[in-house]
Amino acid sequence: MIRFENVTKRYRGTAKPALTDVDFEVLRGEFVFLVGASGSGKSTCLRMILREETPSEGRVVVLGRDLRTLSNRKVPYFRRHVGAVFQDFRLLPTKTVFQNVAFTLQVIGSSRGFIQQAVPEVLALVGLAGKEKRFPHELSGGEQQRVAIARALANRPQILLADEPTGNLDPATSVDIMQLLARINAGGTTVVMATHEAGFVDQMQRRVIELSHGEMVRDERHGGYGDTS
Ligand code: ADP
Ligand code: ADP
Repeated sequence: MIRFENVTKRYRGTAKPALTDVDFEVLRGEFVFLVGASGSGKSTCLRMILREETPSEGRVVVLGRDLRTLSNRKVPYFRRHVGAVFQDFRLLPTKTVFQNVAFTLQVIGSSRGFIQQAVPEVLALVGLAGKEKRFPHELSGGEQQRVAIARALANRPQILLADEPTGNLDPATSVDIMQLLARINAGGTTVVMATHEAGFVDQMQRRVIELSHGEMVRDERHGGYGDTS
């Protein structure tokens, strides 16, 4: 699904690489935690999977596509298969819940009929049935993140990326969002989640990839937040 081959990333104008020789493969259906201190390169990894950044050296292959050779014209089509959610939700404040989810589908040219069917389905999946007409500011943080997750899933992507998705939520709400992501993964979607939430990582005992100063220092099949070896 996702393969990093000896990936090094240097941002323009910076002395130290953000990633050095990062090499891993994520298989279909896996749930992967990406952990490491702030600035260790987690977001950079996720942005490369979305092809928002490209490697300085090495290769990133996602869903069989070498993202280095993927033409700019094909990027929007590629991104349909990769959903993403962020710490700050990134909803459109002047659009309703329904419109926020519908919008991405409209942008990619989905038919009105598909949108009318897909949006309520995905809102029900994330537990937001009945909230279609609300605006983001009328929702709790947890509900806003559910809208963002619904939007990311509306096109039924094979991969869901989550960058600190519980970073702005209280502990109880964070548990709900974590359970939702686990349920989405159980439904077959590959999930890669960058997080600082040691408790979740310890509890879930899923694969853990740890970065430190841009280097991969751990890749455990069933790991906790801290090094257990
Ligand atoms: P994390 O998500 O683990 O906090 P990041 O991937 O955001 O880490 O950052 C990794 C390193 O790359 C940091 O040193 C950060 O300052 C640097 N960095 C991230 N984005 C940029 C950018 N657009 N330009 C320059 N440096 C960046
Ligand atoms: P925009 O003006 O941002 O394009 P629209 O109001 O046209 O958004 O909504 C996009 C589509 O979603 C339209 O087909 C509209 O009928 C439908 N829609 C909007 N809100 C709802 C809702 N609460 N329930 C069902 N369909 C809705």
